[in-house]
Amino acid sequence: PYDVLVVGGGPAGASAAIYAARKGIRTGIVAERFGGQIMDTLGIENFISVSRTEGPKLAASLEEHVKEYDIDVMNLQRAKSLEKKDFIEVELENGAVLKSKSVILSTGARWRNVGVPGEAEFKNKGVAYCPHCDGPLFTGKHVAVIGGGNSGVEAAIDLAGIVKHVTVLEFASELKADSVLQDRLNSLPNATVIKNAQTKEITGTDKVNGITYVDRETGEEHHVELQGVFVQIGLVPNTDWLGETLERTRMGEIVVDKHGATNIPGVFAAGDCTDSAYKQIIISMGSGATAALGAFDYLIRN
Ligand code: FAD
Repeated sequence: PYDVLVVGGGPAGASAAIYAARKGIRTGIVAERFGGQIMDTLGIENFISVSRTEGPKLAASLEEHVKEYDIDVMNLQRAKSLEKKDFIEVELENGAVLKSKSVILSTGARWRNVGVPGEAEFKNKGVAYCPHCDGPLFTGKHVAVIGGGNSGVEAAIDLAGIVKHVTVLEFASELKADSVLQDRLNSLPNATVIKNAQTKEITGTDKVNGITYVDRETGEEHHVELQGVFVQIGLVPNTDWLGETLERTRMGEIVVDKHGATNIPGVFAAGDCTDSAYKQIIISMGSGATAALGAFDYLIRN
């Protein structure tokens, strides 16, 4: 068996595997796609000490760093269940069962897509998901935020400080965000809220130049010219495969303590799949280190 088996090969998993291997213990990492979300990221400007890099380049460096250690890397393998017996057993979709004394779950998350024409086509060409990451790319421009829940309205308030104008499109007849956020948004001179708006298409040529929505009350179609669209309709953790085996929040995020421990002894979690605040590369790497040190502490006590 492994001492530490990491499930997920994004920034959190890579960091956890390196921290574990540096303790001289038997470490494995299994990933559906090594690199994780950063494989879909173009510019990264907030990975501190690296002023600018690109996702696939950072993923290659992660892999290179992992390979400097004696770590079993099992890429292109998907975990389908976890069970605690004598060891913790992780079954893969290919039928193999991996046994380990401790496990670190770092299966990340994915942004929910609106699924309209133009969204996939203009990803990284005006369509964005993370205001902390990509907000500054739209300085002085007009952008839309799709989604009027807490994350959408927070994003709009954040963006309003950077961009020229921000338009929030909410599908329902009311915003769902907390009233304190709505009040703040309404006080901003460069923010507009459109309710009952069903996004129909994100338009553009080589990059985004507008958004088309249908007013659900009148059925009329409208087009707004703008340069960016932030989709803020939810971040879904990749934790469905865990079912009821361990404690998750209502949103499906794995509940962890300050050592990265879950409610199952020996099972730790890190990164975007957990209930940690803020989902960022640097934060997920930090939590991967925390979980590995937590797992090591667990191993020397058991
Ligand atoms: P992930 O990166 O999601 O990695 C999860 C890993 O688990 C992957 O290897 C995946 O294949 C694997 N996996 C999932 N399910 C299973 C399973 N069942 N079995 C085995 N493996 C599985 N953050 C920033 O700090 N700066 C930015 O500029 C930035 N830009 C972004 C742009 C985009 C378009 C996106 C989508 C995200 C961006 N982020 C950015 C967020 C950042 O990418 C995430 O916070 C970070 O990648 C989270 O790392 P993670 O390791 O927790 O999860």
